[in-house]
Amino acid sequence: MSEVAKIFSCTRCGFCCKGETTVSLDPADQQRMCDVLGKSFEEVASQFLRITDGVVQMKVVDGHCVFFEEGCTVHTGRPWRCGEWPLHPSILDDKNNFLTISESCPGINVDIGYDAFCDILLKILDENDRVKC
Ligand code: SF4
Ligand code: SF4
Repeated sequence: MSEVAKIFSCTRCGFCCKGETTVSLDPADQQRMCDVLGKSFEEVASQFLRITDGVVQMKVVDGHCVFFEEGCTVHTGRPWRCGEWPLHPSILDDKNNFLTISESCPGINVDIGYDAFCDILLKILDENDRVKC
């Protein structure tokens, strides 16, 4: 079992893909998304992105990210912040962050307990520049 699997297993409930905004895409995210979709940035932007004051996000359709359809339809091209979720480093700072995130994400293994969860998350963060779930 991977370290990530010890503390998180996505149920594909889609909660993190819902709402009226999405995470923002940095330039590397934008390029990866274009590569995975096999489209130019102009095509991707017109079909899938919302750009406001230089902030690039995904469009929201019917209250969810344009790519959500019983799961993420651009999985390998999703923004790194999507890939990181829900193992956000702020969990290590405050148990309340752990509780808040676990309330919105049923994939978090709460049974392991906060201290053991943090030990594993810290190990993952030590070994990787960024968490990828
Ligand atoms: S990351 Fe969490 S909230 Fe998002 S789909 Fe998976 S289980 Fe649901
Ligand atoms: S890109 Fe995928 S994981 Fe990210 S919000 Fe959209 S559907 Fe969810």
